[in-house]
Amino acid sequence: MTREVKILLSEEEIPRAWYNVQADMPNPLKPPLHPATKQPLSPEDLQAIFPMDLIKQEASTTRWIDIPDEVREIYRLYRPTPLVRARRLEKALQTPAKIYFKNEGVSPAGSHKLNTAIAQAYYNKKAGVKRLATETGAGQWGTALSMACQFFGLECTVYMVKVSYHQKPYRRSLMEIFGANVIPSPSNTTNAGRSVLAQDPDSQGSLGIAISEAVEDAVSSDSVNYALGSVLNHVLLHQSIIGLETKAQLEKAGEKADIVIGCCGGGSNFGGFCAPFVSEKVNDPSSIKLIAVEPTACPTLTRGKLAYDFGDTAGLTPLIYMHTLGRNFMPPGIHAGGLRYHGDAPILCQLVADNIIDPIAYNQTKIFEAAILFARSEGIVPAPESAHAVACAIDEALACREADQQKTIVFNLSGHGHFDLAAYDKFLAGKIKDYPLPEDVLEKSLAELPEI
Ligand SMILES: *Cc1c(COP(=O)(O)O)cnc(C)c1O
Repeated sequence: MTREVKILLSEEEIPRAWYNVQADMPNPLKPPLHPATKQPLSPEDLQAIFPMDLIKQEASTTRWIDIPDEVREIYRLYRPTPLVRARRLEKALQTPAKIYFKNEGVSPAGSHKLNTAIAQAYYNKKAGVKRLATETGAGQWGTALSMACQFFGLECTVYMVKVSYHQKPYRRSLMEIFGANVIPSPSNTTNAGRSVLAQDPDSQGSLGIAISEAVEDAVSSDSVNYALGSVLNHVLLHQSIIGLETKAQLEKAGEKADIVIGCCGGGSNFGGFCAPFVSEKVNDPSSIKLIAVEPTACPTLTRGKLAYDFGDTAGLTPLIYMHTLGRNFMPPGIHAGGLRYHGDAPILCQLVADNIIDPIAYNQTKIFEAAILFARSEGIVPAPESAHAVACAIDEALACREADQQKTIVFNLSGHGHFDLAAYDKFLAGKIKDYPLPEDVLEKSLAELPEI
């Protein structure tokens, strides 16, 4: 049993292959469908916006996929990330449980999103692409992709949800430092943006609208591709590096995880974090608990419908089989911007349907309380997204205190909250409200699901 606080791996121990959980899922995924024909998508359909290497990864069921040397070289800037024993938090909670967190906040982009941004920029560069277009909500994905594009000499256009563009100007600065062109969405530069503005000139935008704009931009030219920061299978594949390192670190510490926790927006950080623990759960359901935590204001996994839906608002993307709140769902102004997407990763949705992953939803006030306790114990201010995982880890640790059980709880700290201080200010001033989703709003939104 280790006495260490930080469980570290050397640069040589950065994994050499990503792990593809599709190889070990009890049930296969339903194929994405073409938005017009509603027939299963062919690889050629995706070639307008993605390079072939990523299209192949998207459909692959091969268990291990080599990480290119060029990608591993850049991973060395911040990987392996530390696994940290939260001893001071354990003490504050007076729990017999052991709490570990994987700190993806040490990435120079501030979150896990760089893990896939680097890989996506690499494969696009290799395919001869000149520019990537993407959307960003709170700005973390845009920051990560801007940095990755800079590393590989690609141009980058980021459609940033307008409300965040104005609320988080420093996120924009960061993207511009890394050379990106940042456009507030909805914008006048695309048909999708213009049609939203024609109906509502004051639209503050949404992730769904920004995706429509970025996809339209990418389709319009051969030298431009699109990049998505979450949801898709290849994104979860790249994020498996988080779980692989965590597993190796737990082994090094002589520990075995009993409870694995992550926050869930589009599902990429949790999907990658829990992937290497899935086969254990499949083989022995009582051996481990995998918990995905989402906001009550955008309760995709806990209250959404498992159905085919578009990934964007305009209906330009393929139809994806996932838990969805409906593509026109407008999440209220919660501060975990990265958790406001109407859908979720098909891999996670299938694992939820198969009872491998347990979803749970938390209120905003609860996650900020947890974040403050964590910050005051461990000295790290978590991103509001990551604070959902913190809150769940605390609940599980308190349950261990009640039951006098010494379980090992491991959660993913997906990012730091240094750009979310305005939200923390609001919380400290008692101005953070909860937004549980009313049933009639959900029903209305689900009534607009496409017919398949
Ligand atoms: C984007 C983001 C999330 C949510 O996205 P997932 O795809 O669900 O991981 C969570 N945490 C942080 C810090 C983020 O930036």
